[in-house]
Amino acid sequence: MNSSTETGPAAGERDDVRPPILLVEDEPTTRLLLARQLARAGYAVEAVCNGAEALAMLKKRFFPLLITDWDMPEMNGVTLCKAVRLLPLEGYIYTILLTAREGKANLIEGLASGADDYLTKPPDDSELRARLNTGERILKLEQSLRVANRRIHMLSITDALTATFNRRYLMERLPQEIEAAHRHQRPLSVILCDVDHFKQVNDTYGHQAGDTVLKSVTAILMQSIRKDIDWAARYGGEEFLLALPGASVTAAMALAERIRAQIQAHVFEFNGGTCRVSASFGVVGHESSRSGEDAGIDRLIGRADRCLYDAKQSGRNRVSGEPPDSGASGSST
Ligand SMILES: [Mg+2]
Repeated sequence: MNSSTETGPAAGERDDVRPPILLVEDEPTTRLLLARQLARAGYAVEAVCNGAEALAMLKKRFFPLLITDWDMPEMNGVTLCKAVRLLPLEGYIYTILLTAREGKANLIEGLASGADDYLTKPPDDSELRARLNTGERILKLEQSLRVANRRIHMLSITDALTATFNRRYLMERLPQEIEAAHRHQRPLSVILCDVDHFKQVNDTYGHQAGDTVLKSVTAILMQSIRKDIDWAARYGGEEFLLALPGASVTAAMALAERIRAQIQAHVFEFNGGTCRVSASFGVVGHESSRSGEDAGIDRLIGRADRCLYDAKQSGRNRVSGEPPDSGASGSST
């Protein structure tokens, strides 16, 4: 049965949209009546005939509310409740078991299977609404907790000034990139970028100007890298690391050169003045033929750091790169 026509009040009539309900009931007349009852209460209802159909539906689409009959062919409500709790889902499903079975033993078995609430059929209209309101309250709490957790996580991996990833994230993510490069036998390049004579910017124009310069450099970096593939992290004060999965050292060197030219050409504006800066770059590739400790993050960053040092030593405002390590020569593409 498709009950999508039995929608509740139009979305514009309420600022608070009710979560959709997946209704599971094998008996056609009861299913129809329940669907109408729920639609009148303002819910959009999708109805299916048994637990197996419900599970298949939940794998395709998320329903925060589930109302299920107990006795059904193929898969009953209790088995469905247990299965739902094992699904890897994006959020919590508040589940109400609806049954003609009465008695404490049934109620306990129903709740033990993973149901959040238990109602006997046919449900009284106002009681059903009240129970669903309780469910929505729980769902809102769960959702706000999830949003808060996501926010805390983002804050914990984000650099407060530049909004790039921070060093903590870098230390977690880069080993994963190395591991992935090794597993897929694909290149991985890393660029270390350091703003030249940054202390002079702070000393001459003040720290606020310095902050503005760092934010503008970040903007140039972010515009230059591939979205959703490459990523940037603030490694230290005025030092950034760009990770370029799949990119050869040659490609990374070319990218670093483009960024270098852009930073050199940019007029950095801040409250009350302008200035120009340059940056130096160290570029290295991780060689996928290596494995174990030898191919670790410290070694990779250490090599990039040496290249950066070379760039600084040879006059700054330049890119210094290192071909892939010995043994992996010719595999930089
Ligand atoms: Mg039944």
